[in-house]
Amino acid sequence: MLNLPDVVAPGLALDGSGERVPIRRIYCVGQNYADHAREMGNDPSRQQPFFFSKPADAVVETGSTIAYPPLTSDLHHEVELVVVLGGGGSDIPPEQAVSRIFAHGVGLDLTRRDMQSTAKKLGRPWDLAKGFDQSAPVGPLTLGPPPEAGAITLTINGELRQTGDLNQMIWSVPEIIAELSRSVALAPGDVIFTGTPAGVGPIERGDTLLARIDGLHPLAIRVGG
Ligand code: MN
Repeated sequence: MLNLPDVVAPGLALDGSGERVPIRRIYCVGQNYADHAREMGNDPSRQQPFFFSKPADAVVETGSTIAYPPLTSDLHHEVELVVVLGGGGSDIPPEQAVSRIFAHGVGLDLTRRDMQSTAKKLGRPWDLAKGFDQSAPVGPLTLGPPPEAGAITLTINGELRQTGDLNQMIWSVPEIIAELSRSVALAPGDVIFTGTPAGVGPIERGDTLLARIDGLHPLAIRVGG
């Protein structure tokens, strides 16, 4: 008989309940704030949103120390609003999308920027530039849909690096859910990173990152030496 070790389903803490929310898939939206699209050298006009994904077990919870990942010397931070779905479906109309949201929180879409730049240049996939071990820290979740406005910031070692407002998103959260559900069937436990404001930049070994959105539980992560 095969002796397979236990496989642990990834999950995230739901604040105040002691319960854990199981995670099924992680999707991310690219360039959803105009200032960030410009800093990446792109036109922020309202084109169709595009998506990429990370493995579900890339989630990391607040208070963790993560390893500086291999095969990069340019690990970047992207602070983002994250939503977790409690319902799903295909071709979800935007006006019904909010009803699919179970909880929300603050996340970091960690990126091996040098690997991503090479992939872009060569027309290769972004997968390993975005979807590596511990690449998706998410703070404690709050029940219900997220606010539509509010400051979103990232500080490193106490210094402000990224700042924006949720109301600057090119595509709103309901529009993102609707658009993504045209491409794949969504389901409970799906996590969506909704894009980062301007100010992305490098993380060094030993840094302490503090990601915040007004009214949400903060996410604090340390990067190992
Ligand atoms: Mn991102």
